[in-house]
Amino acid sequence: MTNTQNVLIHPAVDNGVKQGDPSFSGGVLTCHCTSNPVKLRVGAQTAHNHVCGCTKCWKPDGAIFSQVAVVSRDAVKVVEQAAKLEVVNAQAPIQRHRCRECGVHMYGRIENPDHPFYGLDFVHTELSKETGWSEPEFAAFVSSIIESGVDPSRMDGIRSRLRELRLHPYDTLSPPLMDAIATHAAKQQARPASPKATPSASAAAERQPAPTRPAQAGGSILARLMNKLFGGGQR
Ligand SMILES: [Zn+2]
Ligand SMILES: [Zn+2]
Repeated sequence: MTNTQNVLIHPAVDNGVKQGDPSFSGGVLTCHCTSNPVKLRVGAQTAHNHVCGCTKCWKPDGAIFSQVAVVSRDAVKVVEQAAKLEVVNAQAPIQRHRCRECGVHMYGRIENPDHPFYGLDFVHTELSKETGWSEPEFAAFVSSIIESGVDPSRMDGIRSRLRELRLHPYDTLSPPLMDAIATHAAKQQARPASPKATPSASAAAERQPAPTRPAQAGGSILARLMNKLFGGGQR
């Protein structure tokens, strides 16, 4: 048995995953500034909440995973201190808007209408005082925590702890989200308006903005697709 004592994932789940309230309908996310914080109104329950090991999502101090969920972009509105927000990387498929003073990411938005997740914003519900947000359901991009400096020898313990918390560890996204990406890619390929038949499953992704890191030669179709969509197999 792998020892999972003292394995910390994220403060929101380390003492057990709190179930969401199906009737919950949103709240206000606040950045970490002690004065004049940025406030974001999220006027709906979130979905696909998960912990994420990628190097791009915002994590609270000391956490090796972020916790991030999606919500319709129509439900997201900056209500205070919008001028303090800046985009981390305008070239990235997901534009993360962070507070330039405290560094907290308030929301990630996709501006490319051809992206499979267009219309959804990424938010960190731990920034809200309200309880009832949808609970984390899985762990994404788990292997990527090694890129953030986690020793590979710790991975067994970390994956075991995630399973204990019923946050199934995936090295990409969960099957429903991967299926959504593949469905989108298949539909794009089937578009009659295409000038000619598209040769690979990554064709839909070829129209995404240039990735921040070049696709690795010889990578799988999936790896190339994820690279185009999220920039380096990550969000
Ligand atoms: Zn701030
Ligand atoms: Zn992430």
